[in-house]
Amino acid sequence: MDLTYTAEHEELRRGALDFAKREVEPGLRERDEQAKPDPAIYRKMGQEGFLGICIPEAYGGLGLDYHALGILSEAMEYVDTSARVILSVHNGLHSLAVYQWGTEEQKKAHLVPLARGERIGTFCLTEPACGSDPAGLQCFAERKGDRYILNGEKIWISLSTIADVYLVMAYTDRAKQAASDSHGITAFLVDRAWKGVEPYDLKGKLGVRAGATGGVAFKDVEIPADRVLGGEGNGFKVAMSALDNGRYTVAAGCVGLMKACLDASTKYANERSAGGKVIGKHQLVQQMIAYMVQSIDVGDLLVRRCGWMKNQGLRCTREVSMAKWTNTVNSQQCADHAIEIHGAYGYSNEFPVERYWRNSRGAVIYEGTKEIHQLVQAGYALGYRKDAPLPKELPRWP
Ligand SMILES: Cc1cc2nc3c(=O)[nH]c(=O)nc-3n(C[C@H](O)[C@H](O)[C@H](O)COP(=O)(O)OP(=O)(O)OC[C@H]3O[C@@H](n4cnc5c(N)ncnc54)[C@H](O)[C@@H]3O)c2cc1C
Repeated sequence: MDLTYTAEHEELRRGALDFAKREVEPGLRERDEQAKPDPAIYRKMGQEGFLGICIPEAYGGLGLDYHALGILSEAMEYVDTSARVILSVHNGLHSLAVYQWGTEEQKKAHLVPLARGERIGTFCLTEPACGSDPAGLQCFAERKGDRYILNGEKIWISLSTIADVYLVMAYTDRAKQAASDSHGITAFLVDRAWKGVEPYDLKGKLGVRAGATGGVAFKDVEIPADRVLGGEGNGFKVAMSALDNGRYTVAAGCVGLMKACLDASTKYANERSAGGKVIGKHQLVQQMIAYMVQSIDVGDLLVRRCGWMKNQGLRCTREVSMAKWTNTVNSQQCADHAIEIHGAYGYSNEFPVERYWRNSRGAVIYEGTKEIHQLVQAGYALGYRKDAPLPKELPRWP
């Protein structure tokens, strides 16, 4: 396993960081305070090719490898989680699912505008009464001739009022829904512009306030049969494999957030004095700094392992779960330490570390809570859980 990044990867990192500092950072504190996303950022990310970074050129993307997606996620989250969330939902959870599961016609029709950033995609699994356990979905799409009629509601959907197209998981089999049998779930590509699709924003979020999160109600929405992704009854597999990609971007983003915590904390610790010396000279402050360094190294290696496995075309559900669980929990702890090091100033938005903490908190919950990832890891270790081959695996790179 070669986990070394190439010179091109490092150049991408520098370019992405420059972009984030130039396009995301200005006005960020105000957007976070007022919970106002800036849609211009999505357009500019699209112009840079970021929204199709690891989609092959034949489908409108830049054709870079899966490491590149991780590096980009890390660079965006170094500046703000809301910018990385775009990559998680658009690239990780939506576009890569179309790339993995789509027919050739679907890839040409749907993937090309997504990869070029002309259309934004997102992922709709969570519902008001069901998050961790998708078998409990209430959304139902009834087949009528060459269409399905979708009813139900999704909530906690990133970019719900911004995305042009949703990847929606809904039951299509009443008996299986009644039995909570996930083999009755189907994945659909649903346009926001269609009749009966009613998106809304959620207010009062703790974090990711510069990004849009909301819900969407589906009222007798007519879906043409060619909008089924991956075949009827494969929706649970589509969703779980999409999460393998989304979780990778979350884990990589956490490395960026932990680096931001470390940089803010070392700067402050070398400037602020207490007890006649800069606080960086106090051993208990050093302990918190050391924890950040350790978390970054561990997190970075876990992410590189996943990127390498994806490049080889190897299934990495367990490894991605490990990276997501470890890095989200550690990034929350790093942000907490960063606040501690800043003392009372860390408790104010005069410094960015309180935003890091609020942003890190959500990532421990979405794309599988830390409890769910512990169940996954224990399941593998105890032999209760095994990965069966999928009808379609994520293509290796190149
Ligand atoms: C900022 C943000 C953005 C999001 N974006 C999206 C998105 O784009 N698309 C999308 O579909 N969803 C999204 N989500 C939703 C997210 O994925 C869910 O919130 C998450 O899966 C948890 O589901 P829940 O909130 O319903 O909690 P629940 O499933 O109700 O869980 C509540 C608590 O019970 C615990 N629990 C549940 N089951 C078990 C179990 N078997 N064993 C032990 N403990 C258990 C959980 O760990 C948790 O602590 C987002 C959430 C947030 C906060």
